[in-house]
Amino acid sequence: MRTPSNLHIVCVALYYLLGDFMDVVNVEIGDVVKLKKAHPCGANEWEVAKLGMDVGLTCLGCGRKVRLLRYDFDRRFRGFLRRYRDKQE
Ligand SMILES: [Zn+2]
Repeated sequence: MRTPSNLHIVCVALYYLLGDFMDVVNVEIGDVVKLKKAHPCGANEWEVAKLGMDVGLTCLGCGRKVRLLRYDFDRRFRGFLRRYRDKQE
């Protein structure tokens, strides 16, 4: 049986099996990142609020919070705007 949800599970499983060989974004809490698509409010600056199986992001344009699956985040990631570490110095 092939349904979209089964396919999705296979993709997630493959992602974690191949994870060691793939580029996973080395992101940390407090970093400000740019994504492939801007938020509907027009801003494309996201502060990383939570890391784990999914990534919690706060839109710096309107303050709204979203959550992305880790692999969606890695696919949509388009670069760092500020690193949390730089702010400390
Ligand atoms: Zn926004």
